[in-house]
Amino acid sequence: MNAVEYSHFLLRENVNEGDLVIDATAGNGHDSKFLAELVGEDGQVYSFDIQEEAVNNTGDLLAANNLLNRVNLIQDSHANLDQYLSKKIKAVIFNLGYLPGGNKEIITESKSTIAALEKSIKFLQKYGLIILVIYSGHSGGDEEKRALLKFSKNLDYKKYNILNYKFLNQPAPPPEIIAIKKRK
Ligand code: SAH
Repeated sequence: MNAVEYSHFLLRENVNEGDLVIDATAGNGHDSKFLAELVGEDGQVYSFDIQEEAVNNTGDLLAANNLLNRVNLIQDSHANLDQYLSKKIKAVIFNLGYLPGGNKEIITESKSTIAALEKSIKFLQKYGLIILVIYSGHSGGDEEKRALLKFSKNLDYKKYNILNYKFLNQPAPPPEIIAIKKRK
């Protein structure tokens, strides 16, 4: 499985009907759609993106699949996600980098990504899961990856299991995953 496929595999294993989950980078909406299907009619997805174009693309994809009523689309930074939550969350996915087909200069940045990650951890339920799909090919991507690896390595192993899923033998750096699972 490539990184995106593996991220969906992990979400499928961990997310159940009725759960509250977050797409921290809505982008073109593929993760929001996938999550909306997993949580079912009784679940809720909160989807964040700073770009109007991404919020619109995600809304269109959800509407076309009759899933809009399960998703709160929020045009704001994921660094503010705590302002929208009143309950604990089961899973969060970050699909980092730039909007495919959009402005490649608007990228996720380590400072706000880590702020959002810290808040996600605070709101995470027991056995909850956070997934970061990390791209290092674009400028700024490698710095973000290093910051996320450093942050993740320092989380308490008694509280979290951290996985790093990556391919070692490819010429161009393919995306990789950091997955954080709360142990109790
Ligand atoms: N998951 C998407 C791809 C995401 S692209 C898909 O499958 O199509 C990354 C997105 O992160 C872009 O749309 C960009 O606008 C958004 N983004 C960048 N910084 C952000 C921030 N601080 N908060 C929320 N979204 C952000």
